[in-house]
Amino acid sequence: MRIVSVKQGTAPIASAIANAYIDFSKMTASIVAVTVEGEGGKQATGYGFNSNGRYAQPGLLAERFIPRLVEATEAQITRPDGKLSPAGAWNAVMKNEKPGGHGERSVAVGVLDMALWDAAAKLDGVPLWKLLADRFNNGAADPAAWVYAAGGYYYPGKGVDQLVEEMKRYLGMGYSTVKMKIGGAPGTPLKEALAEDMARIEAVVKLLGGDGSKLAVDVNGRFGLHAALTYAAALAPMGLRWYEEPLDPLDYSTHATLAEHYAPPIATGENLFSMQDARNLIRHGGLRPDRDILQFDPALSYGLVEYLRTLDMLALHGWSRRRCVPHGGHQFALNIAVGLGLGGNESYPEVFHPFGGFADDVPVRDSKVAMPTIPGIGFEAKNELFAVFKTLG
Ligand SMILES: [Mg+2]
Repeated sequence: MRIVSVKQGTAPIASAIANAYIDFSKMTASIVAVTVEGEGGKQATGYGFNSNGRYAQPGLLAERFIPRLVEATEAQITRPDGKLSPAGAWNAVMKNEKPGGHGERSVAVGVLDMALWDAAAKLDGVPLWKLLADRFNNGAADPAAWVYAAGGYYYPGKGVDQLVEEMKRYLGMGYSTVKMKIGGAPGTPLKEALAEDMARIEAVVKLLGGDGSKLAVDVNGRFGLHAALTYAAALAPMGLRWYEEPLDPLDYSTHATLAEHYAPPIATGENLFSMQDARNLIRHGGLRPDRDILQFDPALSYGLVEYLRTLDMLALHGWSRRRCVPHGGHQFALNIAVGLGLGGNESYPEVFHPFGGFADDVPVRDSKVAMPTIPGIGFEAKNELFAVFKTLG
């Protein structure tokens, strides 16, 4: 195995939307193309990008991680069976990086890792989900992935009626479970913000036939413990699918306190970017393996090589992979969900295009989506996204 070339670029991923913490009007994503030469001179180009919520990392890629990948030796990136080793490439890329303080280097490394897995599956001539099932899951891939429609963002002037219309569109697209943002009225006294959000939530639950288990709500880490508990008391009788990122993602003890007072499912993890941070959440966050949801996003957290370590850590702590539903709504995590038997994957039907969303012409039915059978992650079956990658030349 030999790295032939690595190209990178920066693409806009801007949307005129906001959650409780940030707006997305200036969001960018790094894109890379990694060409690898394998056995018999066969070449494959894998593509990668970082999913939404973190910005492009051109400096880290150019100064440290791409040069290390290009300089990696054949022995470092080749498995004993002669195939491309994303894990070996990961070790080469992370040379001279100290532990801890993961910062945004996990984003830069995740972009390269995605491209290397895409290339590995293309060199094998199989879709990534199949490669993953064969290498790490005794060949057992799921026939489809459970997906839910994430939206319900704040737009200037967007009222309850527009929110309900948006959710109605998702139901029309084949999703049966939807997610909306809450807690996004900064400066509003807690009591008023809660009343406003409960009116929004009740309107959507009504659309869902009164079934709260078809709705998740997302705070994006905005609340302190007092606000999280106040909302929890109001939300508990609604029987919601989950209560997402109610608290700062790195503040584990407040999660443990919330979990003592809120019996329904809590979801978090999209802003934890390493196995070690995930392990701290599992050790100290008081989360419950029989109901809570873990949303670590492999594209933002050092890629799949690190995500496999996180899954091993979870198994040691008695957590099923089915409790994992990654953040990001991208094809990479969808392949991982199907190939490794996770609980499902996020989906953004109306935002973060073209990076969000799955292969063209693959319909969502009853919140389930099947996988394309082309080699790699499936980017070539998503025209709008592949057009962005083609700009790398
Ligand atoms: Mg979220």
